[in-house]
Amino acid sequence: MTVTAAETVRGLHIGGQWTEASGGKTFDDHDPFTGEVVATVPAGSREDAKRAIHAAAQASRGWAQSPPAERQRVFLQAADRLEAGSDDVASWLTRETGSTFGFSMFQLQFVAGLFRQAAALAYRPLGEIIPSDTGAFAMGIRRPVGVVGAIAPWNAALILSARSFASPIALGNTVVLKPSEHSPYVGGLLWGDIFSEAGLPDGVLNIVTHAPGEAGPIGDELVENPDVRVINFTGSTETGRTLAEAAGRNLKRVLLELGGSNPLIILADADLESAVNAAAFGSFLHQGQICMSARRIIVEQPIADDFVERLVEKTRTLKAGDPKEPDTIIGPLITDEAVATVKSRVDDAVAKGAKVLVGGEAEGPVYGATLLADAPDEFTSAETFGPVAAIEVVGDADEAVARANATTYGLSAGIITSDPDRGLSLAQQIESGIVHVNDQPVADEPQMPFGGVKGSGYGRFGGAAAIDEFTDLHWVTVRSGTHPFPF
Ligand code: ADP
Repeated sequence: MTVTAAETVRGLHIGGQWTEASGGKTFDDHDPFTGEVVATVPAGSREDAKRAIHAAAQASRGWAQSPPAERQRVFLQAADRLEAGSDDVASWLTRETGSTFGFSMFQLQFVAGLFRQAAALAYRPLGEIIPSDTGAFAMGIRRPVGVVGAIAPWNAALILSARSFASPIALGNTVVLKPSEHSPYVGGLLWGDIFSEAGLPDGVLNIVTHAPGEAGPIGDELVENPDVRVINFTGSTETGRTLAEAAGRNLKRVLLELGGSNPLIILADADLESAVNAAAFGSFLHQGQICMSARRIIVEQPIADDFVERLVEKTRTLKAGDPKEPDTIIGPLITDEAVATVKSRVDDAVAKGAKVLVGGEAEGPVYGATLLADAPDEFTSAETFGPVAAIEVVGDADEAVARANATTYGLSAGIITSDPDRGLSLAQQIESGIVHVNDQPVADEPQMPFGGVKGSGYGRFGGAAAIDEFTDLHWVTVRSGTHPFPF
């Protein structure tokens, strides 16, 4: 699977073959820190998406009937191969997406676990016997849906692309994966290499990359082509809304994991050091480019001054710069446009009364870890996809919950308290798909029901929840012999 820097990758992966984009075009894939070209990648089009869907549809029946042992073997092999090549993959994560060493290691460990759990998913009982009053033997049987369209983002490229196809394929579906234009290899074509070597039959996983700004026609084909039965999407709320509207018109099921303006509540009884560490990690891991990042730190008044002072101090110590240096915490944002967007959102908040407690400045592609106070609602209720957290001071826990819910989003939240019972009771009042008591909002394990409410989307990746998402439930009855009809 080794593809060295600045080489042309082998092609789109369609029907088990490496192939040029139908128009023969390519695009340059850049290192967000150095700006160097990491690889030259095929610029696929709607025509290529059509070819990929056709290949997936052709492979569908055979894969749906494959014995679970075969699916299990493929995923166990893929996990081993990923681990065997982990240095190479970590290097790609850094060069293609600016991932720091720690975040790359987290992604690698997560995905190896995800594949091993997908291997077990192949053997999960998929149905139930339902008592019938007619004497029929009645069953609810879960079957693969057929072709799944998977649209993945660049930010946690390894995890978010892998989860978009692992459960669907383990459950007997075939997939067309469309990675982000910012992570075409490590969030896309890499999987063609690994899964071919792991013995996945041709056409079960197809991968179509495209140039920046050219996602729309491929997305349209995935939504409109009747052979694609379910779509899963991870990305911005804006794009998710567009896809959901189109999916609605086509009566197509869609799973959406979108943005968040995730709160971290620090109650007055919290251990200060642990609260400060949780806030820094939750806000600044991967430069805050994680859908679950803590964007709002809501702290109870009695400890607010001490907490803020210590958090500002800690934030100043986080090393920013080259993600290739193993102790770097804050690496580059994904593009110059991303830096400009974060900068303009912070500048706008400041113009409306916010104070910068630390950070607030960019050096090239790296935006410094930033804490704001007195940010306007306009800032806190929206998502700023970078290393910026807004601190709010509240009078009591009820006010903290009200502020936590004052957003159209609802992905993840954290509550830090020395009283876990109280934490649990508050957790149940928070409008989000995920809440962690005595942890910050950034967490995931392959078997957990992962997803949001409100503007953060619907549907769940992970473990048993994936069975509902990526299978159809069929009611089947069997009777023995003949039986009377009324006429
Ligand atoms: P971000 O701004 O974080 O990149 P996006 O929602 O734009 O978030 O991107 C997430 C994924 O959605 C990427 O794979 C991107 O290429 C894809 N995407 C962007 N626009 C569309 C679209 N109109 N249809 C389908 N996919 C799209």
